[in-house]
Amino acid sequence: MSGTVKEAVSLMEVLPESDQNFVLEFIKKLRFFSLAVILWIIMSITMTACSPMQGREEAYSASFFAMDTYMTFTVYDDDAKAAREALQQAQEEIGALEALWSVTDEDSDIYALNHSGGQPVTVRDETAGLLSFAVKMAQETDGALEPTLYPVLTAWGFTTEVNRIPAAEEIERLLECVGYDRVKVEGSLVTLEDGMMLDLGSVGKGYAGDRAGRILIEKGINSALLDIGGNIQAVGARPDGSDWRLGLRSPFGEGIFGTLQISDRAVVTSGNYERYFIGEDGVRYGHIIDPETGYPVNNGLASVTIIAGDGKLCDALSTSLFVMGLSDAVAYWRTHQEEQPFDMILVTEDRKIYLTEEIKGKFNLQKECKDMVIYPVTSSVAEGKNGNYKFRP
Ligand code: ADP
Ligand code: MG
Repeated sequence: MSGTVKEAVSLMEVLPESDQNFVLEFIKKLRFFSLAVILWIIMSITMTACSPMQGREEAYSASFFAMDTYMTFTVYDDDAKAAREALQQAQEEIGALEALWSVTDEDSDIYALNHSGGQPVTVRDETAGLLSFAVKMAQETDGALEPTLYPVLTAWGFTTEVNRIPAAEEIERLLECVGYDRVKVEGSLVTLEDGMMLDLGSVGKGYAGDRAGRILIEKGINSALLDIGGNIQAVGARPDGSDWRLGLRSPFGEGIFGTLQISDRAVVTSGNYERYFIGEDGVRYGHIIDPETGYPVNNGLASVTIIAGDGKLCDALSTSLFVMGLSDAVAYWRTHQEEQPFDMILVTEDRKIYLTEEIKGKFNLQKECKDMVIYPVTSSVAEGKNGNYKFRP
């Protein structure tokens, strides 16, 4: 069986509660429609609903397919021409980044590196920058993020959509070609050992969101919401100055499990419910791989959502904290959040929600998911109390 269509429905909520429920019901009924259709419906209702409230600010949006996913950018501005130009430029930027990092496009930097036979390759500054970041995050996460995992991902068919379960010996052999510590980035000169292959799939969309957001700001846009295949990049606040309200998609396939109010933040989710296949053995295999074993992650976490100012950091952490599992993810947050502030929402397969203290007040559990129990994650273990429960992951 092949994988599901990626239906990353992170809803943009600028609707009153009643409309919201209507939209959610509607989405449940429309599960088999494409993401583009669903987002289009949300966007149209959203825009009609909010325009009379916001004086002269109007919503302008662009939806397109790039980086193997659907994206919808919405900007709010009182100048139609400026808004459209800004959208156009942001979209062009995404196209340009995709051309740099595509694994299949023969003109891309990543293609050149993956076919370099161990020879140094001069790459564009942006590629070198993101690669250095990915390698740094790989070090920081002790290899949970692994930018050289591509041969293993291909063996599982996650790069071709023709899924299969590789033999244990094959995985073992391929893991010999995996190791971020063997990627050398010296300025714009990158060297990859012969046989190794890179992909920036785990950080590229986060970075793309950062870039698109920055372009909009440079063009004078103060309020915009970018949906990058389920990753959200919020530029500023809503036109009336209030927070955006985002729906967080349930990893259990039941619409959203909660809403989150944020401004000026990126919100990125990783989970194995997005892209997976059911093997001949009846087991579900997800597209995020534990680099240590070469097998899809199966550690009790259902999804990891990271909230921070920097989209690429969110993207890197959502993937790597998902690989780490609950205890290590919490430990990582405790040791890193001061120097690199971020918030997180971890959902476990047994329907528990762990959220960092800062965003507790910004999160609302959906009525239909009242059975899910929320546990706060605080900076010290002893303080992590919720009723009778003492949090010691
Ligand atoms: P998505 O891009 O599907 O929204 P992620 O940001 O979590 O989700 O990235 C997952 C992608 O990264 C996979 O599709 C795969 O290309 C790659 N990948 C899978 N496991 C890892 C890993 N441990 N480290 C780095 N990249 C990974
Ligand atoms: Mg990621």
